[in-house]
Amino acid sequence: MDLRAVRGDITQADVDVIVNAANPGLLGGGGVDGAIHRAAGPALLAECRAIVAQLPDRRLPRGQAVATTGGRLPARWVVHTAGPIWSASRDHSAVLRSCYSESLRVADGLGARSVAFPAISAGVYGWPVEDAARQAVAGVRGSSVEHVQEVRFVLFSDESLAAFDAALIG
Ligand code: ADP
Repeated sequence: MDLRAVRGDITQADVDVIVNAANPGLLGGGGVDGAIHRAAGPALLAECRAIVAQLPDRRLPRGQAVATTGGRLPARWVVHTAGPIWSASRDHSAVLRSCYSESLRVADGLGARSVAFPAISAGVYGWPVEDAARQAVAGVRGSSVEHVQEVRFVLFSDESLAAFDAALIG
């Protein structure tokens, strides 16, 4: 797998799958989730509603992932995963790594060759970006895939890009 980090807007990524840093309700929100739903159009929310209606307690457990089509996005599919909320007193890093490995597993099952990730949990969920980047790289490197050849981290700020570049080297 080829891993790289770039600065950009993930809604514009020319890949087979973009991963959405969603919330367990899957009903859209702020940050990258809102941007993806705005760019993809209303079909995405309708698909998310149908998926969530089938899930126990009508929520996606944090660290798991589900797929929808990409709507009007350049990407063919969106894989939605709910990251953990940062806690200084409890270590949820295995859940964050699972967001990456489970999203890759779902993307690989779709036959995707290229996947773009945002910095999951590093926005409203408050995860310090240096560690979010380390968990992201560990989660991806710990995955075995059949079809995926390229994983691109698409970061929204220079600070996030620097953290991911450092994690890829370290
Ligand atoms: P979470 O709730 O998982 O923390 P957020 O959407 O609040 O998710 O933030 C996750 C990361 O996504 C943050 O680093 C934020 O700056 C970034 N982000 C927001 N919009 C975009 C976008 N259009 N493309 C790529 N990254 C984005």
